[in-house]
Amino acid sequence: MNKQTQLIPRSRGHVDILVGLSFGDEGKGKISDTITPQYDVIARVNGSGNAGHTVCDGTNKHVVHYIPCGFLYPGKILICGAGMAINPVDYTKEVIVLEKNNPDLRRNLYVSHQATLITPIHISKDIYRESGIGSLGSTKKGVSFGYADDTEHKGLRMLDIVKYSTKDFLSFYKEYREKERKLFPRLPIFLKGNDLTEEENIWLKYIDKMRSLKIQIVDTVQFANQLLAEGKNILIEGAQSPLLDVRLGHYPYNTSSHTTPQMLLGYAGLPPGALRDVFGVMKPYITRVGGIPPLSVMDDDTDKIFREEGHEFGSTTGRARKCAWTDEVLLRQVIDLCHPTKIYITKMDVCPVDVVKIAVGYLLKNGKNVLYPPMNLNDFESVVYKEIPGWKFENNELIPENAINFIAHIKKLFPFIEIAGIGVGPNREDIMYLSNNDLNKIDFVFEYS
Ligand code: GDP
Ligand code: MG
Repeated sequence: MNKQTQLIPRSRGHVDILVGLSFGDEGKGKISDTITPQYDVIARVNGSGNAGHTVCDGTNKHVVHYIPCGFLYPGKILICGAGMAINPVDYTKEVIVLEKNNPDLRRNLYVSHQATLITPIHISKDIYRESGIGSLGSTKKGVSFGYADDTEHKGLRMLDIVKYSTKDFLSFYKEYREKERKLFPRLPIFLKGNDLTEEENIWLKYIDKMRSLKIQIVDTVQFANQLLAEGKNILIEGAQSPLLDVRLGHYPYNTSSHTTPQMLLGYAGLPPGALRDVFGVMKPYITRVGGIPPLSVMDDDTDKIFREEGHEFGSTTGRARKCAWTDEVLLRQVIDLCHPTKIYITKMDVCPVDVVKIAVGYLLKNGKNVLYPPMNLNDFESVVYKEIPGWKFENNELIPENAINFIAHIKKLFPFIEIAGIGVGPNREDIMYLSNNDLNKIDFVFEYS
């Protein structure tokens, strides 16, 4: 290579990242599926089977827990990255189901050798904890225990499936199991001593199935960088919300992996300089599952109306999601956490009330009004609301004036962020676009004091 060619920059693609702006289930799956055609590579790099993303292609509804939402498009490269925690049973089953829609899927799917494995022992620990006083409202899929073992340097990783033969893997698993049994002898999975349970035998069978299906386990950091250098464009889909980040999120009601775009880029091993857009996805209300209700809760009747109209039941567990009002205070925080350049507002078609509330501030116990969540949530006293008129979508061609006012209000709060589109139904084509210039010109029908 002569000096001249060294100066020519490598052909580089770019990276975009998509994250939710509340507590999950904002419709990231739908948006990811909608924008997939613009990318060569779709990556999921964090979280586990506790996340559920829905894609409606106009004919069928698909729910994925592990595989990136680009799975319906033949030829797209799909990556499951290093920050994921994978249960081989659920992962393999999901691949087999999705292959029915995309026979090329397995050929284009790559999973990181550094992803950690969820074992039956993790699930047993999770069920045991959830049945007792330490319950956190988890999905009982062993996720936090899987990540904890990895942090303690005693977890199993995807690499072990490559490293060991079937026989050696069994000995390796038994060795790990014996250490755990000594530490946690009362765990239900160890009631029969050294004998493997049925769940464990199934789990081991699926480890083998991954081998026979030739699931491609690779160094995804090297692979993604190579793709980027070739000029491929990459979309990283965030599972869980930045508000639930293991370090920066609402502890202890957060998730077990990193969820902010900055950290997702890290899990992918991709350079910050390649980052182009961060897409934030929000609804005109908030939902939450698990241990703690959001602060801006709705009364029980309104909560029920929104849940039914918005079909707000968990895509992983079917649990009823708790509905809450849009919360500007949390929006400010999440925008600091993830710096979106563009926002999609999904579910604009779901507004089953005449009056919509928006949380505009919090009143603290010391009498102060604040616009940003206090460090110590024990200081929180109540939510300060403003009311705005609701809206009804009569058809998918016209955005009702009150809906535009809501969107323009979000735009006014964060003028540096573009409103990229609004969701008006679960299907791919149920999306509408509006001019941000026009939004900026709107005279607000409601103003906050
Ligand atoms: P994710 O976890 O953020 O990917 O969201 P989920 O898929 O768990 O939940 C979102 C739900 O809302 C799914 O059932 C979607 O099909 C549905 N959905 C997404 N966008 C829209 C929309 O604009 N309008 C309506 N009515 N439903 C939507
Ligand atoms: Mg979801």
